Amino acid sequence: MYLETRNLTKRFGGLTAISGVDFGIERGKVNAIIGPNGAGKSTFFHLITGIHRPSEGEVLFKGKDISKLPPNKIAELGVARTFQTTNLFERATVFENVVVGHRLRTRSNLFDAVFRTKRLKEEEEKCKEKALKVLDFAGLSAITDRVVTNISQEEKKRVAFALALATDPEVIFLDEPTAGVNPDETEELSLLIEKMAQKGITVCLIEHKMKMIMNMADKIMVLNYGEKIAEGTPEEINNNDEVIKAYLGG
Ligand code: ADP
Ligand code: MG
Repeated sequence: MYLETRNLTKRFGGLTAISGVDFGIERGKVNAIIGPNGAGKSTFFHLITGIHRPSEGEVLFKGKDISKLPPNKIAELGVARTFQTTNLFERATVFENVVVGHRLRTRSNLFDAVFRTKRLKEEEEKCKEKALKVLDFAGLSAITDRVVTNISQEEKKRVAFALALATDPEVIFLDEPTAGVNPDETEELSLLIEKMAQKGITVCLIEHKMKMIMNMADKIMVLNYGEKIAEGTPEEINNNDEVIKAYLGG
């Protein structure tokens, strides 16, 4: 399996937020995680991307245990993510946000930073080129110089995607990529996510909009109270009694 969790468990004091989850993410596919609020979806992403350490179990990426690596090391392996709440520099422009985000993730040493070496200048040029490229991919070319406070929620979501894409990820984790946007904008963002997948990036997303998930996911995992209660294709999930029960609160 491309990316896999084994017996993944996270406890916060007496609360088990993720409980013994085995899940495989398929390469080149759109994988989705659904479940009621508080089910442990974001925690699951935090465990994979190194923000939390598992209480038990492991995360294997291409066969290697990454569960003890810090977030930047995991990012360097080609694992990118966005957050449920977009955390952009509101007073900077769209372009600046992507350049700074990218720079924070590319290593330059103190010597370079102080003496502004030729290598550093070249690196900066590359950052800027890369930023323009991913902004174009995300459909933001026309608004690169707008200050983030003044753009729409949908555009902010696109900026967050661009930031993640600037690291040239192999796999991208999107936590509620369409939260807070209207149905038309959801459609537009779905197209962008599909475009990422077509480019060969493995996608894993958390979503509440069932129609969108049913249309675009190849594989779905359902979480409820930290446990995996179902896994399968959209058709299989749609007809699963456990899932219906969890959603109806039965
Ligand atoms: P979801 O994303 O599915 O809505 P979360 O993963 O955010 O759910 O949260 C799962 C459960 O874990 C919730 O009950 C939440 O309150 C709890 N939780 C999440 N993060 C922490 C934390 N850092 N400390 C304590 N409890 C947490
Ligand atoms: Mg969440």
